[in-house]
Amino acid sequence: MSRPRKIRRVSKPPICSRFKPVGIPARLLDVVDLSVDEYEALRLADYEGLEHKEAAEKMGISRPTFTRLIDQARKKFASGIIEGKEISIEGGNFQFLQHVARCRNCGSTYNYTQHAPDKCPECNEEDLENLNLYYQRGRGRGRGKWGQGK
Ligand SMILES: [Zn+2]
Repeated sequence: MSRPRKIRRVSKPPICSRFKPVGIPARLLDVVDLSVDEYEALRLADYEGLEHKEAAEKMGISRPTFTRLIDQARKKFASGIIEGKEISIEGGNFQFLQHVARCRNCGSTYNYTQHAPDKCPECNEEDLENLNLYYQRGRGRGRGKWGQGK
């Protein structure tokens, strides 16, 4: 029926994957699932301020596809804020162009394309987490807090 979807290019993983309203227990919250490619559309259009054409090229998709993606992302994001839902970023049809390592000690993040840093340049800690793996391994809801699981 529909053509197979092209893999969407995403610059690098989001540094935070879950956003939760303050003061409401998680079990009472509805969750809005934003895919990683929808996150990237928001980042390019609304954070970086790119035109749809340019943003579409960066992601390797057509402009009409980008426009649908950003519309969908904005609706989801707005419904999270307006209706007081938890926003979770995960899944989608994408590949990351860069890696991000995050120091488990001080929380600093480092972008790289080839070789991960051996240790944190800020604090010399050697316990670094690759955020890409976090998004690629398909965690289940309710798990995968920062600093857990390796
Ligand atoms: Zn550090």
